Amino acid sequence: MGKLKELGLNTICTHVGEIEDKQFKGSVSPVYMSTSYAFDNVDVKRYPRYFNTPNQEGLCKKIATLEKTEDALIFSSGMAAISSALFAFLQKGDHVILQQVIYGGTYNFVAKEFEKYGIEYSYTESHSIEDFKKLMQPNTKIIYIETPSNPLLGITDIKAIADLAKERNVLTMIDNTFATPINQTPVDFGIDIIVHSATKYMGGHSDISAGAVAGSKKHIEQIWETARNFGGNLSDFMVWMLERSLKTLNLRVKEQTKNAQVIAEYLDENPNIDKVYYPGLKSHPNYELAKSQMKNFGAMLSFELSEGIDAMEFQNALQLIKPSMSLAGLESTTVSPAQTTHALLSEEERLERGIKDGLIRFSTGIEEPEDLIADIEQAILKTKKELV
Ligand SMILES: *Cc1c(COP(=O)(O)O)cnc(C)c1O
Repeated sequence: MGKLKELGLNTICTHVGEIEDKQFKGSVSPVYMSTSYAFDNVDVKRYPRYFNTPNQEGLCKKIATLEKTEDALIFSSGMAAISSALFAFLQKGDHVILQQVIYGGTYNFVAKEFEKYGIEYSYTESHSIEDFKKLMQPNTKIIYIETPSNPLLGITDIKAIADLAKERNVLTMIDNTFATPINQTPVDFGIDIIVHSATKYMGGHSDISAGAVAGSKKHIEQIWETARNFGGNLSDFMVWMLERSLKTLNLRVKEQTKNAQVIAEYLDENPNIDKVYYPGLKSHPNYELAKSQMKNFGAMLSFELSEGIDAMEFQNALQLIKPSMSLAGLESTTVSPAQTTHALLSEEERLERGIKDGLIRFSTGIEEPEDLIADIEQAILKTKKELV
């Protein structure tokens, strides 16, 4: 791409980072599967695990442009991205502050790996900035947040976190998977490093496992030093697939977000639903904060079924909407955290985290919202009837 400044989102998604096919003038990027490149008379020593093959470099440009950062790296999974990014900056004796509610895989990674390497950590008790302040120590190196969070769509004040961290020279990392750069660009508020499970919205079709990290040249360089040792690079064919997926990121996420708002409002009015968690509802405790830091409220929501409607039976009764552990595909899916992601916790521990048995996390797809609503409606009626 030439020197066009300030491109719109759909243009960035479609074109930035594309590789020109000089040989055949094809319309899309060629895919270079080579794992071996010449070393003489070239200024870049290319190798897949060095994260610098042509397709990797092209896609990194697109992701960095979307996140408004100088640079980015692509990984084979979200956890490869998150683990490489954290370990790039941490050493024995360092301390990390983590937000109370984070993705289960990240939680497990911290629980299993940090102690082994002598890294200290603390979890906040809420999303409030006061909580983060309380946990600051002289050896605090990183603050790690995730907003909106999983599964209750809690909102953390991104700017307050970035300000707090800058005051004390602490690095900030955010998991931006749920929001996507379409709905939230954390560097606008001073966050240093953005991580993604590209398996979710960036891939968007429930058929790619990938991860991404975005940040300044300096930070990405440091993450790269660690990443090439851990070796979590993505195969170039999948990089190419991800480039293809990202072309429709804005189209997909915009539509999914629009549907989520409609469904959240419908559920909010439904007498068979006790509670709806969606930052785009005025009843969400952090609606104003979400509005101030998100461009739109995203496509994930959760709701509690009223007593008398069993979560499993309800999900089995759905005809269009599929039960699924993962999220963010074109298709709408549900999961009941009490029976899956949080099943290993005791009921008391679950309730402490606000996870009731009737809680359903809903990943909104691109289907027509009236079809989704009709499906939810019939599943509620059917499940209720069966209980009588
Ligand atoms: C899925 C997910 C991850 C982990 O990504 P993988 O691609 O499964 O490794 C991290 N954070 C969030 C918010 C996720 O939803």
